[in-house]
Amino acid sequence: MSSDRLFRGPIDLHTHSRVSDGTESPAQLVRAAAEAGLGTVALTDHDSTAGWAEATTAAIGNGVTLIPGMELSTRVDWSSVHLLAYLFDPNNAKLVAETARIREARLHRAEEMVAAIGRDYDVDWDDVIAQTEPGATVGRPHIADALVARGLVSTRSEAFAGILHWRAGYYQPHYAPDPLVAIELVVAAGGVPVIAHPATRSRTDVVLEDRMASFVDAGLFGLEIDHRENTDEGKVRLRRLADTYGLALTGSSDYHGEGKPNRLGENTTAPEVVDALIARATGSAPVYAV
Ligand code: AMP
Ligand code: FE
Ligand code: FE
Ligand code: ZN
Repeated sequence: MSSDRLFRGPIDLHTHSRVSDGTESPAQLVRAAAEAGLGTVALTDHDSTAGWAEATTAAIGNGVTLIPGMELSTRVDWSSVHLLAYLFDPNNAKLVAETARIREARLHRAEEMVAAIGRDYDVDWDDVIAQTEPGATVGRPHIADALVARGLVSTRSEAFAGILHWRAGYYQPHYAPDPLVAIELVVAAGGVPVIAHPATRSRTDVVLEDRMASFVDAGLFGLEIDHRENTDEGKVRLRRLADTYGLALTGSSDYHGEGKPNRLGENTTAPEVVDALIARATGSAPVYAV
């Protein structure tokens, strides 16, 4: 297989542009990937494929292989669980409808959070609009940028540790499907699902472990193990789960431009894993660097 491999390494399978909560356009992101020495990059904006076309043109122009993807919001009780999805059909009607529903829910939730924050701080919805690309998937990072622009905090991270943290009392969850439903949607659209950063310091990993057999039956491909937010103990558990269920293990940066400290290529995925991922996909094809 490796002899006829068409893509190049190093491979980073998780990045965000201004189509969601990154700070660069898809073209700038692909250029940054080339400059960082990556051979292959996946664009995985939250709940949107709106950056695929621009990233495709940029990939061809910069000699980088692009794996089109998305990071789908899912939810278990009060905890959000992120599902990376690769190479699905971006026109699949059910997936298009579900992502539209999630983006709409995110928008209303952000408006409500900002209304609540605005009762205590000098910030309003126009401040958030000013920080958000038209049509982008809105999230707390855009509210954070508005708080920074107002001088109420100095960085996104400070906003997340303070005003945007659930402890501050302004946090609200938003509608998102159950992870199993999301896996089924991605697979039905010909895509390949991987659970993003499954072992961060939240309690959801326990829930996920209990449900792993059903996720695998539904077509889960892998677990994102090499990610800066997974704990060391969590990685041990993920390795065991991957052994038990025959799951692939991926690594990636979760780059958000200047929105997070994560740097392109700080974690990477083995070429053999990407070979298997591409072989599994039927919804769309990578854009190969030539
Ligand atoms: P939301 O999905 O709207 O609740 O916001 C969560 C998103 O915020 C995640 O997808 C992260 O990319 C981003 N995020 C979380 N913590 C931070 C942080 N400390 N600095 C910047 N972005 C963050
Ligand atoms: Fe994000
Ligand atoms: Fe995520
Ligand atoms: Zn992400």
